[in-house]
Amino acid sequence: MTDLIPILINIDVEPDEREVSLGDHSPWVGFEKTFAYFKTVRTRLEAVTQAPVHFNWLVRLDPQIETIYGDPAWPVTQYRHLLSELQNSGDEIGIHPHTWKWLPEIARWKSVYDPKWVRHCFAMSFRTFKREFSRAPRICKFGDHYISGQTVSLMEEFGLDCDLTLEPGYRTVAERGRHEPGTSPVLDFRQALRFPYRPSRRNFLQAGGHWWSRRRLWVIPVSSGATSGEVIRPSDAPDHEVMTLNLEFYAPLFRYISDALLGKSTKPYLSIVVRSDVPTRDHERTQMETSLDNLANHPWAHRFRFVTGQEALPYFF
Ligand SMILES: [Zn+2]
Repeated sequence: MTDLIPILINIDVEPDEREVSLGDHSPWVGFEKTFAYFKTVRTRLEAVTQAPVHFNWLVRLDPQIETIYGDPAWPVTQYRHLLSELQNSGDEIGIHPHTWKWLPEIARWKSVYDPKWVRHCFAMSFRTFKREFSRAPRICKFGDHYISGQTVSLMEEFGLDCDLTLEPGYRTVAERGRHEPGTSPVLDFRQALRFPYRPSRRNFLQAGGHWWSRRRLWVIPVSSGATSGEVIRPSDAPDHEVMTLNLEFYAPLFRYISDALLGKSTKPYLSIVVRSDVPTRDHERTQMETSLDNLANHPWAHRFRFVTGQEALPYFF
């Protein structure tokens, strides 16, 4: 297993719009297209790696979905046939809770990070998943890369195995340049670890040293780097120079960072993210296709193993 390189592709399954209008019950065209596209990607990557190819799909089952569709399980009931096919292909389905709350006084959605609301959003996603899939979810990726001591505790309390949220290099959720209302928790991920770890019970941003001081849960950080200069530890890079391996981002930089991470790490892995609406936007779709072409044509592609969160864990011990 030592020369094999685990690669996680984590797909957020969401409405095409972030701030969906109340009463807009549009289908998730982006997810439908993403599903079809990744079917072809799977075939291609299986041919290149000569191994099974699995993806992680993180589905929205939270209060925003409940408010819009009247049922947080809407995406599962609407797309049960697609999700079943993904499961039959060996993919992992998990949850992707956002903390959007509809505020009638401003007639807008707002991301709310009050601990009670965060717990409510997570618990609704968990319960809905369990009811619909007759089992508990094993993986979670919080919306807007929000991670805190509370979210890590929640995942452990509810028995999940992997968190896929952490995006090392960024300073706060608010500093992503989004012009949306939000409560902007001040969190600093510039020094966050860049390899999978079991967090300390006292500080989720540190690895626990001993079995009694660390959580059972694994944190698998999204791969990231600075777009100029030192790639592996972009702690001192300004925020605008930090880039995660998001398939919608500029493909040449995606390649630059992924090549550097693969080449410089002693135990290389990649954790790659993408939102399901990307195929509905021409420019971003092209970036995604180019980056996946580059991975398929990579000189080390025969060593890549496209894995679920659980399948990745044995590589990290
Ligand atoms: Zn999201």
